[in-house]
Amino acid sequence: MQLIDGKHVASLIQAEIAQEVQNLKEKGQKIPHLAAVLVGNDAPSETYVNGKVKACHNVGFGSTLLRFPDTISETALLAEIEKLNQNPEIDGFIVQLPLPKHIDVVKITEAIDYRKDVDGFHPINVGRMAKNLPAYISATPLGILKLLEYYQIPTVGRHCVVLGRSHIVGSPMSILMARNTPIGNSTVTLCHSKTQNLAEYTRQADILIAAIGIPQFVKADMVKEGAIVIDVGINRIEDTKRKSGFRLVGDVDFEKVAPRCYAITPVPGGVGPMTITALMLNTLLAAQKKVYG
Ligand code: NAD
Repeated sequence: MQLIDGKHVASLIQAEIAQEVQNLKEKGQKIPHLAAVLVGNDAPSETYVNGKVKACHNVGFGSTLLRFPDTISETALLAEIEKLNQNPEIDGFIVQLPLPKHIDVVKITEAIDYRKDVDGFHPINVGRMAKNLPAYISATPLGILKLLEYYQIPTVGRHCVVLGRSHIVGSPMSILMARNTPIGNSTVTLCHSKTQNLAEYTRQADILIAAIGIPQFVKADMVKEGAIVIDVGINRIEDTKRKSGFRLVGDVDFEKVAPRCYAITPVPGGVGPMTITALMLNTLLAAQKKVYG
C-alpha cells in the first residue's frame, strides 16, 4: 500500500510557486495578491482561512484578510465584494463558506468577478471547466488532479466512483474525471445520499473519491482490493486524549481500508494541503492573467 502524501506534494508545488514569485520580482512585475473574506466566527472556517493566509506568506504572495461580523447584511457584503472586484491590487479572492443563513450564497458567488474567482465557484468557471475550456478549477478537485498526476495514477478507462455531489467537491470532481484529458477519461459513477445499495458501486471502483462528510463511513468491505482511495473528508471526532478534545478523521475508515488499497490518502496530510496549494496555483494564474488574459 502506498501512502499518497499530500503534504509532500503540496510542499514541492509551493516551492515551484515561490520560485515563480521570485522570477516575477526580479522582472519587476506585480506580486500575486489573494484576498479572503471571512464572515463570522466559525472555528473550522477560521482554521481554513488562516491556513490560506499562511500559504500566501510561504510562497511570497501578498494577502489580505477581510473579517466581518455574522450580522453583516447581504447588501453590505455585496458592496465589499464589488470593492474587491474593482481593486487592481487584488488578483483573486475567495469568500469562505459557509455563510450565515441570511446571506444568499448563490448571490454572493455570482457577484464575484469570474476573472478573480480563484475558488472556481462562479457559474462561468464551472461551465467552462465542464466544457474543458480554460477556467479556474475549484481548489479541492484541482488539488486531487495534481495528486493523481504526481503519483502517476492511471485514470484512463478506469472506473472512478465519487461519493458526494456537492458543488465544491463531488460534482466538479465527477466532471473532471470524465473529461477527455490525460488525468481524466475515467468511467464515472456519482453516488449521493439517495443512492441505493451504495456498496455495490464502491466495490467496483478502481478509484474511489469520498467527499460526504461522515466520519469513517467507507469500510473495508466497501472497497475493492487494489483500489486507489482519495479521502476528502475532514471530520472532527471526540478524542479526550487530546488537549483540543477532538481529532480529525476522513470519510474513510483508514486503518481498516488502507491494507486493501494500492494507494490511499491519509487525513490529515492528504487532500487538505493540496486544496490550499491549488488555491495558490489559481492565484498565480490570475496574477499572470493566464486564464482570461
Ligand atoms: P456537503 O455536505 O456539501 O455534501 C455532502 C455530499 O455527500 C452530498 O452531496 C450528499 O448527497 C452526500 N452524502 C451524504 N450522505 C451520504 C451517504 N450516506 N451516502 C452517499 N452520499 C452521501 O460536503 P462537501 O462540502 O463536499 O464536503 C465533504 C467532506 O469533505 C466534508 O468532510 C468536508 O469537511 C470535506 N472537505 C474537505 C476539503 C479538503 O480540502 N480536504 C475541502 C472541502 C470539503
